[in-house]
Amino acid sequence: MTCQHYRDSMMAYLDNELDEEQRRAFEGHLASCADCTRDLAEFRRLKQMTDCVAFVEPEDRVWEQYWGNVYNRVERGTGWILFSVAAIALLLYGGFQLIEHLIVDPTLGALLKIGLLALLGGVVILFVSVLRERIYFWSRDRYKDVRR
Ligand SMILES: [Zn+2]
Repeated sequence: MTCQHYRDSMMAYLDNELDEEQRRAFEGHLASCADCTRDLAEFRRLKQMTDCVAFVEPEDRVWEQYWGNVYNRVERGTGWILFSVAAIALLLYGGFQLIEHLIVDPTLGALLKIGLLALLGGVVILFVSVLRERIYFWSRDRYKDVRR
C-alpha cells in the first residue's frame, strides 16, 4: 500500500476509527516511514487545535451567561440606587419643608419642635438603614444564584 493510502486514514487513526487490522498495518507502516510519522505528528497537532476550537463554543455560552448575570446585577443594582437616592432626596426635601415650617411656627413650643425634629431624623435614618439591609440581602441572593 502507498503512503497516500495511509495519509488518507490518518484522521481515522487519530479518532480511533480504524479496526484492529487497519490499525496494525498503519502502525507497521509508520515504523518504516519517516514521512508518514512526521505527517501523523502534524495531523495530531491539527486535531488538538480543532479540538480546542470545539471547546470554545460552550465556553462562549458560559461567558454569555456570566455577562447576562452581571447585566442583571447592574440593572437591579442601578434600580435600587436610583430608588434609594430618589427616596432619600424626597424624604429630605419633605423633611426640610417640615423643619422650616416647624421653626417658623410660633405656636409650637421649643420642646415639641425638638421632639418632632428628632422623630423626623429617626425616620430618615431608619429608612436608609432598611434600604441598605435590602441591598445587602439582595446582593447575597444574587451571589447564591451565581453559585448554584
Ligand atoms: Zn509512508
